[in-house]
Amino acid sequence: MFGLIFATVSSKKLQLPANAATCRALVRALLAWFAAHARDLPWRRTRDPYAIWVSEIMLQQTQVKTVIPYWERWLRSLPNIQSLADAPPQTIHKLWEGLGYYTRVRNMQKAAQQIVAEHRGQFPDAFDSILALPGIGRYTAGAIASIAFNQPAPILDGNVIRVLTRLFGISGNPKDKVTNAKLWQLSEQLVTISFQTTAADTCSQLNQSLMELGALICTPKQPKCLACPVRSNCVAYRTGRTDEFPALAPRTAPTARLFAAFIIQNRHRYLVQQRPSGIVNAHLWEFPNFEFPTAPGASDLNHAAETLFGQAPQSTRPLCTVKHTITRYRITLTAFHAALPNAAPRAKTKSRWCTLAEMQKLPFPSAHQKILKHLAQITVPA
Ligand code: SF4
Repeated sequence: MFGLIFATVSSKKLQLPANAATCRALVRALLAWFAAHARDLPWRRTRDPYAIWVSEIMLQQTQVKTVIPYWERWLRSLPNIQSLADAPPQTIHKLWEGLGYYTRVRNMQKAAQQIVAEHRGQFPDAFDSILALPGIGRYTAGAIASIAFNQPAPILDGNVIRVLTRLFGISGNPKDKVTNAKLWQLSEQLVTISFQTTAADTCSQLNQSLMELGALICTPKQPKCLACPVRSNCVAYRTGRTDEFPALAPRTAPTARLFAAFIIQNRHRYLVQQRPSGIVNAHLWEFPNFEFPTAPGASDLNHAAETLFGQAPQSTRPLCTVKHTITRYRITLTAFHAALPNAAPRAKTKSRWCTLAEMQKLPFPSAHQKILKHLAQITVPA
């Protein structure tokens, strides 16, 4: 299989974007550095493609130290593809609670079900079959193919883009088509050279060394060039232009959004609702809430409650305010205890009355989870 992959890579007759001798020196230096300095991460102690896949999906948008306990808990609860394919949706959402971007976890379950149906439950080792799984793009397929199966498949994520643009002095925006294609070619050139070396697992280690260098040494701000194993071949370092690469477009300013959540209590139970499919945070649970253009006053809250429940509250009282940033939104969510006797949500909303203990078993988005933690610390008068 690996030979086939390599033959595919070779037969493309790549127009090598970088000097071959330079690339061989880079590969040697990166492999030696990774062997000496790689962090001991739990998913690096296995070659199980399932465990590596889980780590790669969790690591998207999330830092290593946050992912470790999630990954360990996930592998304890769902140790293999079959267990993920069979898990109830609430279980996978609860295990993912706090990581955000929940489409990822739903795609993982669809992919597991596809592997059971089409690959007899065995994670496929062919690059194209990995890429065909839901939620797996070119980067993730390359990461799994190289790390789990030591295939010379390239990778390109934010860390690798930063390393390659600085090393080779690539000044175009990495998101532009031509520059992006060139970066993929460079990544492929390096991993292909690593495949030609005689040591074991070199594709796995070369790709991980690029990720690791970007995470630990070639950081976005103040890269630690004096500790870098490839500085003698680095264009950005030699020319004193590390802050010019990568040439990304400036980020758009985050948009502020204001929400109010209604905490409606009936003795020891609270009213919560499940978000429908097809929207962000689909299938997660939350307190009924409403978005406002500006900080809501009493009449705004009354109007929102009438829209949500068909009646205005007898009184509202602020409980807590939580702030949360997701994608380009900076969300401020204020929870109000609302006295709404006989409250019932409008039709089409899937809702329940739950005790605190029952709510803690349901998956909530991060902002509402913070309200839940606040509720657990106080006693709300009924
Ligand atoms: S020398 Fe500096 S800029 Fe160049 S790859 Fe190393 S850390 Fe990054």
